[in-house]
Amino acid sequence: MFEKILIANRGEIALRVQRACRAMGIKTVAVHSEADAEAKYVKLADESVCIGPAPSALSYLNIPAIISAAEVTDSEAIHPGYGFLSENADFAERVEESGFVFIGPRPDSIRKMGDKVSAKNAMKQAGVPCVPGSEGALPESIEEIKKIVRDIGYPVIIKASGGGGGRGMRVVHTEAALSNAVIMTRNEAQAAFGNPVVYAEKYLENPRHIEFQLLVDEHGNAVHLGERDCSMQRRHQKILEEAPAPGISLKLRNKIGTRCADACRRINYRGAGTFEFLFENNEFYFIEMNTRLQVEHPVTEAITGIDLVQMQISIAAGGKLPFQQKDIEFNGHAIECRINAEDPYKLTPSAGRITQYHAPGGPGVRVDSHVYHNYFVPPYYDSMIGKIITYGDTREQAIARMRIALSEMVVDGIKTNIPLHRDLLSDSTFLSDGITIHFLEQKLALHNKSG
Ligand code: ADP
Repeated sequence: MFEKILIANRGEIALRVQRACRAMGIKTVAVHSEADAEAKYVKLADESVCIGPAPSALSYLNIPAIISAAEVTDSEAIHPGYGFLSENADFAERVEESGFVFIGPRPDSIRKMGDKVSAKNAMKQAGVPCVPGSEGALPESIEEIKKIVRDIGYPVIIKASGGGGGRGMRVVHTEAALSNAVIMTRNEAQAAFGNPVVYAEKYLENPRHIEFQLLVDEHGNAVHLGERDCSMQRRHQKILEEAPAPGISLKLRNKIGTRCADACRRINYRGAGTFEFLFENNEFYFIEMNTRLQVEHPVTEAITGIDLVQMQISIAAGGKLPFQQKDIEFNGHAIECRINAEDPYKLTPSAGRITQYHAPGGPGVRVDSHVYHNYFVPPYYDSMIGKIITYGDTREQAIARMRIALSEMVVDGIKTNIPLHRDLLSDSTFLSDGITIHFLEQKLALHNKSG
């Protein structure tokens, strides 16, 4: 096992990884920007290194600074968390070339899955159900494109192969709008991702977003840890997740989960990974794979009892998975609410000093957060300041515990989305059934119109 790990991230996930390391008796190195120098989680680490000024491009995305921090601290491995460099194949390569272990998949897996056309091809070959669409990249000729799209059937979505973060996508309803949409998405993709390749997919009108968690070791063992429902999204960003997904049978879970595990073996994957699907009319359609830990990983931990970060570390150290698929049990239900420093309905970020802070507690309540009384939320980074995860024997109990947790939580001095979460947890549509990916946008639009 490693003696010392450098955590190349900030905020709640830096603290989360630190906690896993402590539980395993591993020393930690926190790297931080000048803006995060005073944060308590930085002081809690065994060592810390400042890697640059506040803007991420100069600190958390600064590859040479992170590698030299690992060198001067004699770290053996680097955990990238999520976001920042976690899905950057060049970073993973540099880490390994510099003699450190990258706690994540092999660089070539990251590269392959980061390109959506090649990811989809690989998944199709592996028997994972995909959204119907073009065979790979769209050709140059607009006449050929029209023919391809006619075969798929309108509406379609034109997507950038190199896209991410909900950008580089355009929905097209008629042939008249097609040519323009393809040109615009290509130009945007070239400008934003340096890759003009686009492809077409059937646009699903009312899907849910359901994803599967996978764990794969270097010895050919791959297991799935079930699914999470992440349909509660605004601007393609998730804010509330749950496991298991309401209404998914054990049989369907095992069928899709097994396909994902087979696909991981086929592509020689390693570490933790997530297969994202759209789900409509009882069918799953693969959209992309995330080659890293997800923000919403704790709901899976709650229902399986498996610590995903400890597993990532032990896989990276060459360890074998300590269980097989048949050993994994799914018990109870878990919900996660992401607490963001933002206006709850207008979604504008709200940085500043937290003047009062009280975290909830009690049975079945977990709070993953790096903030505290008098913490200053810097304006430079993601607005998420923590997550509440509640667990119960049933979905109703998990929801009831979340309601109590949200009513106990106090964050004063800045705006947060706690009022929105309280509202969502009493919404009859959310309570009764699985919601679609449009639910929250529609609710926010209604609120902003009437408010
Ligand atoms: P990104 O990598 O930018 O997150 P994804 O491919 O994961 O892009 O898609 C992000 C979101 O866009 C999905 O969660 C869904 O809301 C929407 N979306 C993507 N593909 C489709 C599709 N074929 N039909 C309907 N909605 C889609």
